[in-house]
Amino acid sequence: MDETILLIEDEAAIADNVVYALRSDHFRVQWFSLGEEGLNYLLNNSVDLVILDVGLPDINGFELCKKIRQYSDVPLIFLTARDSEIDKVVGLELGADDYVVKPFSPRELVARVKAILRRQNTNVHLVVNKTASVKNSVFSVDVDKRVITFCDQVMPLSAYQFGVLQLLLSQPERVFSREQLMDAIWSPQQVSFDRSVDTTVKQLRAKMKSIDACQQPLVTHRGVGYSIKNI
Ligand code: CA
Repeated sequence: MDETILLIEDEAAIADNVVYALRSDHFRVQWFSLGEEGLNYLLNNSVDLVILDVGLPDINGFELCKKIRQYSDVPLIFLTARDSEIDKVVGLELGADDYVVKPFSPRELVARVKAILRRQNTNVHLVVNKTASVKNSVFSVDVDKRVITFCDQVMPLSAYQFGVLQLLLSQPERVFSREQLMDAIWSPQQVSFDRSVDTTVKQLRAKMKSIDACQQPLVTHRGVGYSIKNI
């Protein structure tokens, strides 16, 4: 493992324990005690996961998370001190992947980091640009609710259909190969025939056609893969 973890935590004693536990598990760790320093590092370096304390001296962790989300979908774990903070993490839907309440065991935190990165790695190609996906004029995507509408009508979608369409919509005009779609949407344990992707695309086409027969935004690139038109 050589993933880089960005730790933003102002209490040195806590930070030391976390850094030690992560390094023992062969993670690279960058520690900053100020939010702005951490954000600056994130914007200029490759980071695989952020661990973010809610109570920082220079900026509230929730505010910092919002700033981070303007630039990055990096996985994020909050370190929270109080129950009231947890309510906020859950209630505000800030786009955190997990949270840990102080006092916590560093081993527990490392276990959560690993779980999130494992999840992330199975979705390695799923770089979802949420803002781009919502801008398409005939589609709207609500990632949290897992709802996609086409011409203002909600599309009833299976998990695979949703995954494929969401990924295509995340980067309009980009051609995704069958393999990329397969890797992003289907787990390695599942039997992976090319046909699964083709079948799913066919089903998506049929669903769009039943809503609006004139629009065919899904494009087949023979021998290469699929893309969605930027309309
Ligand atoms: Ca703090």
